Amino acid sequence: MALLTKSKYINGQQCPRLLWHANKKLLPEVSVADQHRFDQGFEFENVARKLFPEGVDLSGLDFLGNIDSTKRFIAKNKTIIEAGFKEDNLFVRSDVLEFTNEGWNLYEIKSTNSIKPQHITDLAFQKFLIEKTGIKINKCFVLFLNKEFVKHGEINPEEIVSKEDVTEQVELIDDIETNISKYFEVMQQQEAPEINISKKCNNPYECPLKKECWGTLPEDNVLHLTNWRQYWKIFEEGIFDLNDLPEDIELKPKDEVIRRAAVEKKVQISKEHLTHFMNTLKFPLFHFDFETFDTAVPIYDKSRPYQKIPFQYSLHIQHEDGKIEHFEYLADGKEDPRFKLLEQLKDQIEGTGSVVVFNKSFEIMVLTKLAEDFPEHAEWINKILGRIVDLATPFQGFHYYCPTQKGRYSIKKVMPAITGKGYDDLEINNGADASVQYFNSHIKEMLENKELREHLLKYCCLDTEGMIWIVDELKKITEENK
Ligand code: SF4
Repeated sequence: MALLTKSKYINGQQCPRLLWHANKKLLPEVSVADQHRFDQGFEFENVARKLFPEGVDLSGLDFLGNIDSTKRFIAKNKTIIEAGFKEDNLFVRSDVLEFTNEGWNLYEIKSTNSIKPQHITDLAFQKFLIEKTGIKINKCFVLFLNKEFVKHGEINPEEIVSKEDVTEQVELIDDIETNISKYFEVMQQQEAPEINISKKCNNPYECPLKKECWGTLPEDNVLHLTNWRQYWKIFEEGIFDLNDLPEDIELKPKDEVIRRAAVEKKVQISKEHLTHFMNTLKFPLFHFDFETFDTAVPIYDKSRPYQKIPFQYSLHIQHEDGKIEHFEYLADGKEDPRFKLLEQLKDQIEGTGSVVVFNKSFEIMVLTKLAEDFPEHAEWINKILGRIVDLATPFQGFHYYCPTQKGRYSIKKVMPAITGKGYDDLEINNGADASVQYFNSHIKEMLENKELREHLLKYCCLDTEGMIWIVDELKKITEENK
């Protein structure tokens, strides 16, 4: 019989159908972005393990070797890194099992900035199995990232790792045994269980089977609405199609726009709001976009866990007479990319005029951190911050909405909807891929990958060029039949 591991147990907590697929090894291939997330977890584990210099590391051993060695070292009262336990077709490898004079302590290492409910469940499952093998667990801890940590020189594990005793929360979990029997039943079924789509599809993780399960929904479905509390309620009542919503249902104004667009099958426009937005733009327009990468364990001084480190930007300057200028920057990966990026950007974004970004919270966050970490650049960065106009605003307010946006207002949805142009022809067509590909090639491998650089430049350039096209379309709409 297949083993029930802790990751399968967590899958089972999310959804039996997910567990069934995981057990049959039928999950889709891991995306590059998810693989990067996993890699960051390993990086942080390597740092956190240094808190146990006396620990015997069994991570390199094979399945049986690991379990046998665990028994041997437990008999010698040794702290163990990656201690393996198997009993009654249950199997875990624990991050750290620490020997103390008070008893055995269990540690789960998580590269997150806070403790999540699934970390407690994970520990409860491990504790249940380890105690089945006759080892009493004294205390349970989660080791996670200290979000206040700022790197200055060599990283001290004591400073970057936060530790919390979660023994009480773990002991409150009393349904492990019942769940184990349920999950074994699921794992033995011939066919995947039929499960209704629910909030659990995104919680605690975005389910890798979403494309498959959600692909059966109607084209214009109620999950496109923005008020998630209301749309799940509607969904659970059995109404899936926006076209089937009762006439008298009260929706938020944005959701009313989404419904109307689906029913009338046409773009919804509030010319008044769009005109108001266009009046906030001051030429020349500096269309600007950053690409960033982040790591759990910071690699540069003056940076924090998961801080977005900009490595690239594209800047299109659109003058009122129609003249366009383009500037760009793509770091070579040899040093902290922020130094050269700031020097170059300072000269290219000077003067007056709106700095147009799409979804300002991201660019504001990156610029604010740059001003904080490089105070010598703070003055001009703060001036830029004061000039920012968010091109996402009219779309966020659903003052322009096309049914093809499916309730979303990211530039990837808006640009094709309003301009008819999109990202499909590009090798790199989303920010997550750009970020990971740059990190893997330039930072990890230290490669000068010319082809990849071309793809990155094309991708980032399209973001800001697309912003020009969007402004032009908004201008046409607002000037029509004036
Ligand atoms: S997408 Fe939802 S219903 Fe489908 S397997 Fe995942 S959690 Fe279950």
